[in-house]
Amino acid sequence: MNCIFCKIAAGEIPSNLVYQDEHAVAFPDIHPAAPVHVLVVPRKHVQSVAHLADTDLELAGSLLLAARTVAEQAGVADAGYRVIINIGDEGGQTVPHLHLHVVGGRQLTGHGTA
Ligand code: AMP
Ligand code: ZN
Repeated sequence: MNCIFCKIAAGEIPSNLVYQDEHAVAFPDIHPAAPVHVLVVPRKHVQSVAHLADTDLELAGSLLLAARTVAEQAGVADAGYRVIINIGDEGGQTVPHLHLHVVGGRQLTGHGTA
């Protein structure tokens, strides 16, 4: 499949993986919106939250726990941070492979990555 996040997760495109587990990998966003901006990406290709199946319960839960661990490792867990998931066109999703943005390291405002 010609999917950039599948290729990164499979190691076909080199990237600086800051975290990996059975279900997911995490790497820095190429256009960081804050001092900490890491993407948590499932190894399995799921297009978006809207495409999760009921049988993806463990996968879905593990992604949130991975985001928590990424935030701890990045040193923002105590100060606070944001986990963002964009879904579909009007949700602002540009890469059609489910990913969680872990954003922090500065005071965030509003409800987006700004
Ligand atoms: P979204 O708008 O939620 O789909 O977010 C996609 C994110 O992926 C954007 O913040 C991009 O900067 C980021 N991105 C796209 N390609 C790459 C890549 N090859 N490596 C790291 N981040 C990427
Ligand atoms: Zn994919």
